[in-house]
Formats: sequence, structure tokens, C-alpha cells
Amino acid sequence: SPMPAGVLREAVIDTGAIAANVRHLRRLTDAEVIAVVKADGYGHGAVRSAAAALDGGASRIGVADIGEGLALRRAGIDAPVLAWLHAPGASFADAAAQGIELGISSFDQLLAAAAAASAVRAAGVHLKIETGLGRNGIAPADYAVVFAEAARLERIGKIRVIGIFSHLSNTTPDDDRAALGRFREALALAAAHGLAPQLRHIAASHAAIALTEARFGCVRLGISIYGLSPFADRTSADLGLRPAMTLRAPVAAVRRVPAGQGVSYGYLHRTERDTTLALIPLGYADGVPRNASGGAAVRIGGSTFPVAGRIAMDQFVVDVGDTSVAVGDEAVLFGDPTLGMPPVEAWADAADTINYEIVTRIGPRVPRRQV
Ligand code: PLP
Repeated sequence: SPMPAGVLREAVIDTGAIAANVRHLRRLTDAEVIAVVKADGYGHGAVRSAAAALDGGASRIGVADIGEGLALRRAGIDAPVLAWLHAPGASFADAAAQGIELGISSFDQLLAAAAAASAVRAAGVHLKIETGLGRNGIAPADYAVVFAEAARLERIGKIRVIGIFSHLSNTTPDDDRAALGRFREALALAAAHGLAPQLRHIAASHAAIALTEARFGCVRLGISIYGLSPFADRTSADLGLRPAMTLRAPVAAVRRVPAGQGVSYGYLHRTERDTTLALIPLGYADGVPRNASGGAAVRIGGSTFPVAGRIAMDQFVVDVGDTSVAVGDEAVLFGDPTLGMPPVEAWADAADTINYEIVTRIGPRVPRRQV
């Protein structure tokens, strides 16, 4: 779709791609999908991402914190929402009132959830099990006491245990299989305490795609619903996914310069011959990583041009040589490679990070335009 006139920069979000990715992943995994839209939908917009994922067949939404869940409710998302990262000593009253399900990582959180139940509604919870990631989750030493109390609170109608879940490290298949073993042990112990949750889930994108025994009939998918690969050695296309975000801006200025011209702060780059420099109005304030300065490139009119010199707060320069690149031409930083755009992974590699971080950090100054 063409860039509207007057736009200084934009992230185009293809919600149809998100829906298609979820449809594809549902078929591939044969599992119920919890679509993860934390961090503003990995930068794509939480509400539109949730709506698109539900459209594509996700049945539930996952977020990190309760505030993110409440924002979805305010925007009219009425599917089940699970939030799993809580402030110390948090009250769960607002979450319970809005029917937001709570990931429970400790005995104290379990009691707080029960305290938040209303006279008419039990608090929906998913017990989060520590199986080796070393973050939060109920520790093995506490499994029995938490399961016993959860079963008791469920019997008296204070909570409803909807799920038991955990999260994997994606280190090696053996590491993940060891965690799956601990998860199965926890599930068996929970059953022995009389807990029979509707859902069991441990796989995020990586294990959902790579490790069939991690699926448990329900998977929590983040990066893959946005069309990006969780693997260093497999592309979106390899996985049948379509990247949903395109980051682009019009060329804001062009300038013919002689050989020896220093470019941008610190003269990291000097022109080697007479050439044309084009100014792109996106910078590190917009989430374009400053440390990608040496290795990144943009696509303009079917050609790829390297970033020249330091990426600044609001802008950077590309060397377009003797081409006919002109003010107003569309410069694409990343998008769908099958449509000829650079992959977001090229920026991630140049900045020594991962695709997750690039899309998640696209700043609030960049308007998202949904197509
Ligand atoms: N589940 C939990 C608990 C998470 O923290 C995340 C994100 O990091 C996900 C699922 C989704 O992970 P991914 O984006 O790798 O699919």
C-alpha cells in the first residue's frame, strides 16, 4: 500500500498477516492458541493484534501484566485474558472484576487471588510452575502446599484453576525435555491433589513449532503470530509465516556531495567518491538501533543501500551513489522479504540482538497504520 502524503515515518501493520499466521500455527500445532500481545503486541499494537489473532482462531490472549489486560478489556476485547507478571503485594481486585485470569507463581499470590474473588465470581487462575527457567513460578519445594491450598480454595468457590503452565528456556532440546519431565511430574502431583484444569501449557513459539511433545493441546504464541521466526537458522518463509510489520519513511532530503565528505556524528563514514546522500527520518528515538550504524541497509525503489555513518536520534543517512533516488521516495527498513523488503533479522544482526527486540522497541513516535 502506498505511503500517504505528509507522512514522516510509519509502521504498517498487516493484521491479515497476523490472522493468517495464527490460522497456520493452529493447523501446524493442532493446539488451542493463547495469542501473546504483551508489550503493545510486540510493537504491533496490542488491541489490533489481539483482535486479529482471535479472528485467525486464537481462543485466548496472554499478556505480562494486569494493566495490559485491563487495557484490552477497555478496548472491548472480551476473550479470556491471562496475565502472569505481578507487582509485589499486588491486589488482584481490578483483574478479578474484569475477568482477567491470573498466573499464580507463589502461595501469597494464590491467597491474593482468592481474596479478590467476588461474591458471584471465583478468580480464574493458572498455576505457574518453575521447571528450570530460573525466573518466577511455584518452586518444586512448594508444589504440594500450593496445590493443596489451590484445591481447597477451588472447593469453596474462591478460585477456579483454569490452567497449569510453565515456560521453557529453549536452550537445547534436551534442556527443554528435562523441563517437560518436571512439568509432567507437577501435573501428576496436581492431579493427585484433585486439580483437573482445563488447560496445560508450556510451549511458546520455539517449542510449539520444534518440539511436538511440548504442545499439550495448548500453546502460547508471541513472535510467530507476528510472522517472525523464533529460530536463528530458520526464516519466516521457512516456517510459512508472513511478517506483519513494515517500517518505512520517505526520503526527506537528498544531497550531492564530493569525495571525502564526513557523514553524521563522529564521521564514522566518509564518502570515497562523488555520491548522493539520502536522509531517512527515523532514528534511535524511534527504535532504530544506533549500534546498527555499521551494518544495516534500507531498500529504496528496488535497490538496497547501506546506512552511512551514525544513526542519530531522529534520522540517518544512506549512500545512494549515482542512482536517481529522490525526495519522497519510499525507504523500507524492514518488512516481508518475500515482497522484496529487507528482513527485520538483518537489523537484528547488525545491532547484535534478536528480531523480538527490534519490533518491540519501535517507539511511540512512529504511527502504526493498520492495513
Ligand atoms: N509465554 C510467556 C510466559 C512469555 O513470557 C512469552 C514471551 O516471552 C511467551 C509465552 C511468548 O513467547 P514467544 O514470543 O517466543 O512465542
